[in-house]
Amino acid sequence: MRAYRYWGDRELRLEDVPAPVPGSEGALVKIVACSICGTDVRMYRFGSEKTDKGRIVGHEMVGLITELAPGLPGGFKTGDYVSMAPAIGCGECYSCVKGRTNMCDHLATMGFQYDGGFAEYAVFPKRAFLMGNVYTLPPLDDMVPFTLSEPLACVINAQSYLRIEAGEDVAIFGSGIIGCMHAELARARGARVFIVEPSEERRRQAGELLDDVTFIAGGKEGAAGEIIRLTGGKGADAAIIACSVGAAQSDGLQSLAKCGRLSLFGGLPGGGSGFLDSNRIHYREIGVFGVHASTPAQNKTAMELLRGGTINAGKFISKRYPLSEIETAFREAAEGSVLKAVIVMD
Ligand SMILES: [Zn+2]
Ligand SMILES: [Zn+2]
Repeated sequence: MRAYRYWGDRELRLEDVPAPVPGSEGALVKIVACSICGTDVRMYRFGSEKTDKGRIVGHEMVGLITELAPGLPGGFKTGDYVSMAPAIGCGECYSCVKGRTNMCDHLATMGFQYDGGFAEYAVFPKRAFLMGNVYTLPPLDDMVPFTLSEPLACVINAQSYLRIEAGEDVAIFGSGIIGCMHAELARARGARVFIVEPSEERRRQAGELLDDVTFIAGGKEGAAGEIIRLTGGKGADAAIIACSVGAAQSDGLQSLAKCGRLSLFGGLPGGGSGFLDSNRIHYREIGVFGVHASTPAQNKTAMELLRGGTINAGKFISKRYPLSEIETAFREAAEGSVLKAVIVMD
């Protein structure tokens, strides 16, 4: 089968590999579609220490079960459409026992420690079934939007810490797909949303997809100053940093109201730190939250939100590519010319 494998930064190649065999473990899944995540793009641009050479990448996938080991929990059968929370916990460490399987000490993730979804077939490992990471999808004419359930689950995870209420002001830094989904979810909770995006082209792209959002370019007054002015001097109740820019983290903190909450959604490249003013956090009782991946429960919630139309995933998918054009898809995703690129198998 054809598969897109990682061999180092800028060294990902579409290759012929033997089709996987699930054996007595897990399920063989014929991939329907797999979308390109910001993490995949980071791996493509800068390499990844977490990924073995020769690994098939891709973790935002939808597929069809074609073979299933006997005795797996969950009542799955061949012919089921499935997706998966790609970060699989061990079930035994402190975090797993507390239900925070995304914080597992031995986390194993599709596309990183297991072969992923940019291929004709993937094996969903037994451990994913045992940990409840696999879930069925309703068969619809277009299954492709469900590839967005994983990034949406990460957004849900981040907002679970922020406790956004109706009437609150939310500032989102970055208008990529993650920023856009944060905006939709916050709007669904009744919040007023501001998006800070310095790039005019990206503001235009996002503006076509989102209603009732105020875009802020930053500029002379500074993003924080503008947010404070637009919220009547109070500041935002929550700020979400949906980009990997240190300066946006400090702007986000400066833009917050007293008792505001800050979500550091995007990690910084190169182990960056030191962007936060700790006295401001102290005196204004600011809550600062990290976020990493998502739990199976959050993936199922995401799938329901997509299915129910609370989040219209279809409109965020800017371009579909066949597997044979995955190299173009990665190049275009890395250039930022597409909001969300999805590989759709023939
Ligand atoms: Zn992802
Ligand atoms: Zn664990």
